[in-house]
Amino acid sequence: MPEPTLKFSVTCPDCALESISEMPIAVIANRLLTGKSLRLYSKCHDRYWTATYIEREKLRKSLAALSTDTNARQNPPLSEESQAEELTRDVRLDALVSA
Ligand SMILES: [Zn+2]
Repeated sequence: MPEPTLKFSVTCPDCALESISEMPIAVIANRLLTGKSLRLYSKCHDRYWTATYIEREKLRKSLAALSTDTNARQNPPLSEESQAEELTRDVRLDALVSA
């Protein structure tokens, strides 16, 4: 089974061009959970850089949404407003990593 990956848009720090990047979900989740730096890549300038706080938050939200979709089959949908807490997202991410 291929490793599940997440496609997300990145903005090149050199030319501000948006491009699509792809990374294993486990890697992204691990970096976000451990607080380690996350390397992003932009094809247009063949450029690697460390994700900023804003970029990390964007990825965190993408993973949280993804994780919610995955859990939807097992668990009944919960109220969106009450589930918007960051802590809940981290727990879901944690489950995702160990899956
Ligand atoms: Zn560029």
